[in-house]
Amino acid sequence: MELGKKIQRAQAIIRSFDGTRRARLLAICLEIQRAQAALNQAAEPFFEVCIEQCKGLCCRNICINEVITQLDLIYILTLHKEIVGQMEKCARAETLFSADCLFLQNRKGPCIFGPDAKPERCIITFCQDTRPIKAQIKTVRSKFSKLSRYTLFQRPFLGIRLPQRCKSRRASASRRQG
Ligand code: SF4
Ligand code: SF4
Repeated sequence: MELGKKIQRAQAIIRSFDGTRRARLLAICLEIQRAQAALNQAAEPFFEVCIEQCKGLCCRNICINEVITQLDLIYILTLHKEIVGQMEKCARAETLFSADCLFLQNRKGPCIFGPDAKPERCIITFCQDTRPIKAQIKTVRSKFSKLSRYTLFQRPFLGIRLPQRCKSRRASASRRQG
């Protein structure tokens, strides 16, 4: 199913980073984790409502592939490669229909990713007025954007494909030089 493939692809992308590139990848993921921890701390009263009153509705009746992105999986598996087996097991239960999140521990909760290694959408989405935690949400989002840029431009095995127009410009420039 789609989620299983996304997990495998995230692992392949992480493996393709080596040496200093891998160290940089880890450093960016740790920045996201610190931003998530700061958001968790600032949003404590919000999460109390989620847990005590609402019982975590946001983790119920969802389409998991709309919630968790390839980038989230790169982030989570860079920090916690030891849970890949557990994630793959969860992914095998994927259905075409919306359902309670596959990553709820024993299908009940809490989330297997722990408090500071969550998919972006899970940690920044609230149904309450988020103005008091706007800055912390912004930081988490900007750190995920940083990871997105890094994985896009530094991923060694994909390279960067130039658009056709750039290729022909480069070709004519080298012809002129020749
Ligand atoms: S954000 Fe709102 S809907 Fe989602 S779990 Fe929290 S209280 Fe419930
Ligand atoms: S990944 Fe975790 S936080 Fe996000 S919906 Fe699933 S159980 Fe909830």
